[in-house]
Amino acid sequence: VQEKLELLKQNKYNSVNSLLDTLALELAAKVDAKIANGEEIGLLEGIPFGIKDVYMVQGTYTTASSELLKNYKSAYTATAIQKLLNAGAIPLVKENCDSFGHGSSSENTIFGAVKNAVNPELVGGGSSGGSAVNVALDYTVFSIGGDTGGSIRQPAGYNHIYGLKPTYGRVSRFGLMAYASSTDCVGPLAKSIEDIRIVLNVMSGKDPKDQTTITSTEITEEAVKFSTVKTIGYFKNFVDSEAIDSKIKADFLASIEKIKAKGIEVKELDFFQSDILVSTYYTLAMAETASNLSRLDGTNYGNRIEGENLIDSYAVTRSENFSEETKRRIVGGNQVLSQGFSDEIYLKGLAVRDQISENFSKDFQEVDVILSPVTPSTPPKIGDSLKDPLAMYLSDAYTVGFSLGQLPTLTVPQGTITGLQITAAKNNDELVLQFANFLK
Ligand code: GLN
Repeated sequence: VQEKLELLKQNKYNSVNSLLDTLALELAAKVDAKIANGEEIGLLEGIPFGIKDVYMVQGTYTTASSELLKNYKSAYTATAIQKLLNAGAIPLVKENCDSFGHGSSSENTIFGAVKNAVNPELVGGGSSGGSAVNVALDYTVFSIGGDTGGSIRQPAGYNHIYGLKPTYGRVSRFGLMAYASSTDCVGPLAKSIEDIRIVLNVMSGKDPKDQTTITSTEITEEAVKFSTVKTIGYFKNFVDSEAIDSKIKADFLASIEKIKAKGIEVKELDFFQSDILVSTYYTLAMAETASNLSRLDGTNYGNRIEGENLIDSYAVTRSENFSEETKRRIVGGNQVLSQGFSDEIYLKGLAVRDQISENFSKDFQEVDVILSPVTPSTPPKIGDSLKDPLAMYLSDAYTVGFSLGQLPTLTVPQGTITGLQITAAKNNDELVLQFANFLK
């Protein structure tokens, strides 16, 4: 713990928003005392981990990497984090990310752009960039990210580690700062499938504080040892798209051939075009974030800036304290929700989402898992994505569809330079881990 805290303190990759050193050392001493007493300790006891800076941990700063909440301290602890603390894991750090989860590069932050662990000239990915980088550099053993449209899977891919977005509802969102509530998922990033499995088990379960949580059974070590996957599918239009990087495409098709050679049946599947996926996702995500962030007006939380009157105070507080990217999303979201637009844009988005889910239901009658590259493009240089938000949105083309479908999906650090994504039907998280082991 001490060693890792030292490394985090240097913050060479801008992955750190705040250190939880006092808490970490106190908890570590308790575990040491237990060991000295000859007491048995649990699987996660004493294991150091990181937390994306969007989770409440009582008494610690939770900034969402924003100016607005720069000095905000959590009043309570998120359910998922509390479960890890109960299991004895040791929180070291609140990790840098795109503000409120808005972004794909971890540059939309007041704490400086997160640098990629593999090549520090490139972005760390986002929005859970700090979490991925800390794991990749062994500053943490695992980190808890948040994935609304790819924010665990994409940075995991960019930093060559594992990252799981579980089935929506498997892990409680209570205490996660909401971005888009219908796709927000809590999940782990780690260097091994086994770590992902253990952490997922601890965090899972129904929570009376989050009515969307579902009951799930523990995924045992035995259950993921051998793969029961017989048929896999991939979306032909993803690999035929003009937007895909040629190396990613070649590597992906080579992985498919290898899988075929192992006796697995491979099917080509039809799916929606990337632009439909991206526009549907951003329509709904922006609408939800406009609604979720409306409470941040400086009254109850955050840096309030006084204006000439109450309404003006709200306006100044929000204009001065939200980033460009966050404001773009609030304005866009309020527009698609407003009278005259909502039927044509928001409700249409919901209808397309239903079609996407139906498409998945059909696919999973034919195949056990779907494989895809994590991203069509490679990580950009730091500074580039800020210049072109649309290009950044389009780089999410392969992750957002699975979010809209609320499916379990895992990035594995192989297959292509930005990783391979394994997706299964809802509640089949186990199958995803099985197949990841099979590919090892
Ligand atoms: N890049 C996507 C977005 O900006 C996904 C972010 C996320 O999953 N939090 O919306």
